[in-house]
Amino acid sequence: MKHVKLLLFLSILSLIVLFNSCGDSDDPAVDTPANSTDDTTIDDSNIALDSDNDGIADSDDTCVDTPSGETVDSSGCSDSQKDTDGDGVSDDLDNCEGTTEGTDVGEDGCALISDDSTTDDSDTECIASTATNDIAVIACKYYNDDALTVVVGETTITITSTNEPDHKSMYYAPSNLLYEEYSEPDNEDFYKNPNTIAAMNYTFTIPRFPEAAINSEATPFGPMGVSINSVVFYNQVAAPGDDILEELNTFDQYEGHPTNTGSYHYHIEPTWLTETKGDSTFLGLLLDGFPVYGPVESGVTLTNDDLDDYHGHSHPTTHFPEGIYHYHITAELPWINGGEFYGTPGTVTQ
Ligand SMILES: [Zn+2]
Ligand SMILES: [Zn+2]
Repeated sequence: MKHVKLLLFLSILSLIVLFNSCGDSDDPAVDTPANSTDDTTIDDSNIALDSDNDGIADSDDTCVDTPSGETVDSSGCSDSQKDTDGDGVSDDLDNCEGTTEGTDVGEDGCALISDDSTTDDSDTECIASTATNDIAVIACKYYNDDALTVVVGETTITITSTNEPDHKSMYYAPSNLLYEEYSEPDNEDFYKNPNTIAAMNYTFTIPRFPEAAINSEATPFGPMGVSINSVVFYNQVAAPGDDILEELNTFDQYEGHPTNTGSYHYHIEPTWLTETKGDSTFLGLLLDGFPVYGPVESGVTLTNDDLDDYHGHSHPTTHFPEGIYHYHITAELPWINGGEFYGTPGTVTQ
């Protein structure tokens, strides 16, 4: 009890002292010393010392060597001294704050587009090749290893896929960790179709060295290709009796939807992939072995006018310096492919 009384007494005493010292702000001698440039007003103790002159006393300053003239926060640190997202690029130079830890970033603090990096995204080995049209060089870009396998053979590439997206969807069963409810903003025609994503068992056998077909074949109803996260590409035609433009209203948060057998698919740009990998990235292969790239090339967003009737064109790319035919996804119908394969298609079974 004696101790409590003593503590109480000391607390009151310190409060009185505090009140007195906060006193008259008009008096420069008792004004906050840290803001003062007049050394004569600073008392003997080091409390008011502000070595970097940033307005924060050294005793409260986490960054005591702030460069002259930079604005600081309450702990005395300027943007050039902070790296909030821990990506190795200081806040004043970081154009992408909040990068997930462990992400490889460029000088601007933004995630490097994997398309331009040399790192492998999956278990599959990237194979160097002397052939100009050997798609084995990009097989390692397939990355959702829980849902697919890629085997590079002598003349074919075999991809098995359970077709389960690695992103959230309103079409996963609510018990699935990737289930997330969704409602499309600003679209009063939006609705969810009655289907649920199911694990499929697709096997794609794709020519490893694709070439232009002599007689082009129409793309099939059902899978016409497979994206780097295992999800299949469908063409621009809806199920018989349905209108594709009507079906657009049923796409989920990443622009896909499942059929009545649970086969999830993309008819248009898979925004999960372009958001995470970059909008000029390699997105997958069509059955004929020709690669599909995102809508942007050399900083320019392509339109259908930039492409031929198959929805592609030929020129050198990062992966094919000698040039290769490739499809591009655009924002306009038919989005991925023009209705016929440029090359001779392989097969898909389920
Ligand atoms: Zn569909
Ligand atoms: Zn191109």
